[in-house]
Amino acid sequence: MMLSRVLSNLFSRPATRPFPKTSREPVEGYRGAVEFSQEECVFCGACALRCPANAIEVDRPAKTLKFDLFKCIHCACCAEACKRGCVQLRSAYHPPVYQKPEFEFSGAPVLAAEASPATE
Ligand code: SF4
Ligand code: SF4
Repeated sequence: MMLSRVLSNLFSRPATRPFPKTSREPVEGYRGAVEFSQEECVFCGACALRCPANAIEVDRPAKTLKFDLFKCIHCACCAEACKRGCVQLRSAYHPPVYQKPEFEFSGAPVLAAEASPATE
């Protein structure tokens, strides 16, 4: 029994793939990659408030957004919360990394209402 298993394993293809050299096509609805649109973000903080993993930090006065990929559980609550469609979860795998990636952006255009000059 065991010998047959050993022989079968020796002459069969491995059950795993050498990612990222080769990878399986993501299944439908897979939400592997979280992407933010810096140009559209107004730093309202709605995504951070809805994030159950505290993976997003928004500093509204400083106009900065930080995202921690290693805390993210890919639930898509941030994408549902963002009324401007700035957060997308794509059907793609993140590549392996040696160090924790830091994702941060700041200084996106302000809302038109904020940008208009004050009237007296
Ligand atoms: S990504 Fe969307 S919800 Fe999050 S701060 Fe920017 S505009 Fe607000
Ligand atoms: S996908 Fe979920 S866990 Fe990841 S940043 Fe968005 S709300 Fe947070």
